[in-house]
Amino acid sequence: MDLDLVIKNGAIVDGTGRPRFRADLAVAGGRIAAVSAGAPLSGRAVIDATGLAVAPGFLDTHSHADWILPLAEHERILAPLVLQGITTIVGGNCGFSPAPARHDAAAALDEISESLRDRAFPYAWQSFAEFLASLERGGLLLNLGCLVGHGALRTLAMGERSGPPTPEELETMRRLAREALRDGALGFSAGLAYAPGVFAKNDELLALLETVAAEGGVFTVHGRAYSWVSPFYQPMFLGAAHNLRSTRELLDLAKQAGVRLQLSHLIFVGRRTWRTHRAVLREVERAAESGLDVGFDAFPYTVGNTTIKVVFPEWFLDGFLEKVNDPTALRRLKREINLLQWALGIEYRDLRLLWACVPELAHLEGLDFAAIAERLGLPPFAAYMHVARLSQGKARILLDTYSGDPTHEAPLRAALAHPLCAFITDTILTSKGAHNPASFGTYPRILGRYCRDLGLFPLEEAVRRMTALPAARLGLEGVGRIAEGLSADLVLFDPETVADNTAPGRSDAPPSGIKAVLIGGEVVARDGQMVPGVRKGRVLRK
Ligand SMILES: [Zn+2]
Repeated sequence: MDLDLVIKNGAIVDGTGRPRFRADLAVAGGRIAAVSAGAPLSGRAVIDATGLAVAPGFLDTHSHADWILPLAEHERILAPLVLQGITTIVGGNCGFSPAPARHDAAAALDEISESLRDRAFPYAWQSFAEFLASLERGGLLLNLGCLVGHGALRTLAMGERSGPPTPEELETMRRLAREALRDGALGFSAGLAYAPGVFAKNDELLALLETVAAEGGVFTVHGRAYSWVSPFYQPMFLGAAHNLRSTRELLDLAKQAGVRLQLSHLIFVGRRTWRTHRAVLREVERAAESGLDVGFDAFPYTVGNTTIKVVFPEWFLDGFLEKVNDPTALRRLKREINLLQWALGIEYRDLRLLWACVPELAHLEGLDFAAIAERLGLPPFAAYMHVARLSQGKARILLDTYSGDPTHEAPLRAALAHPLCAFITDTILTSKGAHNPASFGTYPRILGRYCRDLGLFPLEEAVRRMTALPAARLGLEGVGRIAEGLSADLVLFDPETVADNTAPGRSDAPPSGIKAVLIGGEVVARDGQMVPGVRKGRVLRK
């Protein structure tokens, strides 16, 4: 056999969870041609992997990088993902997908996706098929699978209206979902805490999910509430914890529709929410035991990026640009936010500005809102609303207290340790502003801190939950395992030294221990450096 490359003497961690084994791995024509534990193999090129683990490339199935991939310079912006071992992403999450689109709806589509993008799109595509084809034409740094977002469907069918859809509008959304799924979308995503997902009631979702189930797609969902109280359920302080209610509703919806469910980025927001983590995990387990095809995902940080609008209730988001200048609305908002922050156990120092969106606020990027208030000489609420107003609600923030804080992370560890948990970044990586550490260190942090140092799971299990498990959840075939015939998407790392080096103030520090990353049999990164000009990424269709 004519072998292009042989990776010699590595410990193969094949993604399935089975124990690692010493073998040579051969690559030919971009695929894994042989895995030999017996006779040594030889090829035109050789990488000595003595002392290294050889794993399938990591899958980040909760990515927002689909909003950067259409840009010609995406390989420069997205390099930190590859440098941590990611070879496949799944985009279109939290209800936001760049397709389908329509030129006359471009302004509204731009509006809902503002915080995910680097700049506005010319929308050189309309259908999902055209979107995927245009990415293929341009060449991709890494592999992409994509979900169709509820936000795009609702905006195309209804414009920016907040009420329920008419029967005709709902039928349009179902038709658009069906077309996208037949065009290769892996499934359907919703973001029920952001506009326009926040306006969708369960009957609208159920109708859409029946279509998704009929087409064999997965449903990934950013739930209504990730905290024990939220503005979404009234009266606020009665009944079960809101994150538990939200989880139950989603499990019920999936059961009714018969759809495969992936609960996106399971987090417990605010110090007073942390105590609910066992109840929520138990609820998911019970649904799985009763036969529902359900899983969840999580990232290994107590911070996560979101938009400045995340603390605003639905009534304030509806007509945001007027309300943000309306003193009566602002007085009511201040009362509600104060109450919410107290109830949740979140302070202004837990909210950090990543990207202000306007140059006059750029000097505040990277600071938390307690520091920003001091700089601006304003009370914290006024400082927060100042940034919200000037950025027109588009500023990006990093919120701490997700399942823990620097002093306590039991809920985070419970989520990560759970066998149904796939590992994801959920990061928004653009060229603008300060960064979420997840863009740089997610997978090295799992392998270093949580696997090797804290012993939450063995190495084989850590790799399974960043490769074969998420591939199965999203219905991706041909990635996430080391097996003959599969595409040679591989990561070589040193289990002894692999580590995330990010820290507050150094959120863009590169990781250690990731020795080489291959996509389609080509080395894309080696010893922490990108190999320029390699675009071997493929579009993965359902
Ligand atoms: Zn989300």
